[in-house]
Amino acid sequence: MVCQTTVNKAIEFGGRGLHTGSSVRVRILPAPENMGILFVRKDMEGAPVIPAGVDNVVDTSYATTIGVGSARVSTVEHLMAAFYALGVDNAVVEVWGQELPILDGSAAMFVEFIESAGTSRQNAPRKIVVVKKPVRIEEDGRFIALLPPEEGGGLRIDYGMDFYYSYLESQSISIRLTPVEFKKSLSGAKTFGFLNDVEMLRENGLARGGGLDNAIVIGEENILNKEIMRYEDEFVRHKVLDLIGDLALLGVRLCARVEGYRAGHYLNYRLVKKLLKKRDCWEEIGPDSSPSVEGHPSFVLKESFLSA
Ligand SMILES: [Zn+2]
Repeated sequence: MVCQTTVNKAIEFGGRGLHTGSSVRVRILPAPENMGILFVRKDMEGAPVIPAGVDNVVDTSYATTIGVGSARVSTVEHLMAAFYALGVDNAVVEVWGQELPILDGSAAMFVEFIESAGTSRQNAPRKIVVVKKPVRIEEDGRFIALLPPEEGGGLRIDYGMDFYYSYLESQSISIRLTPVEFKKSLSGAKTFGFLNDVEMLRENGLARGGGLDNAIVIGEENILNKEIMRYEDEFVRHKVLDLIGDLALLGVRLCARVEGYRAGHYLNYRLVKKLLKKRDCWEEIGPDSSPSVEGHPSFVLKESFLSA
């Protein structure tokens, strides 16, 4: 049995939101088992609580925003990806503002914060969902799909993308998610955007906190700030980071293969919604469901793989 985990102690940090540009304070606290990840808007009257779940997604344009009533928290995907990859199942995230800080544009600092606090194992078993039949979302040549897992279970992601600008070569990545692999290959990949979009975003009150140090800007003929890049193929790595953050909104450990091509938050969101609806396409594995584990030879639960 693989048990749930939470952070060992409070983590506090601050920074600017990518879109609002305003400074935000954040405090992450340990949480009891089976609680999941809860965001709390500490700056609002009554401190409304927003559980990080698929049903609470209210916007997927340029970032993933969750909300309950009038309370919103946006750009949750990088922190959610770090929680998922490091195996944090339960935490309370207090936020004094409507958007999480963008920090350096990646999940690297979230990883550092979580690792410096440490994590501890709780008593309740994790909820594990194994994909049994393919679920796919496709639109305008872009797609994202969940398929049954390969041997060993866990999450394998194959992802590709190409660009309108001919100076940029297509990028692809194939990765089996483990905490080590996440830290090495994904967590440092920064947010990126297109110069053409920046003006439009700013006119719409977005990207105000996006600077040349936390977002890679793709121009028509070159990358404007190549010096901040950490990987040659950073864009596809960041897309996978975002995808993990969006899948984490399922609130379970997912055993699946994921294939994607130029998808984004909106397609990712539609994929998880569709998965939940198509009850015959997945199976939840609990501590008392050993027959179905046996009936699924590829699902050899490797504790070291599924936990941080
Ligand atoms: Zn992102």
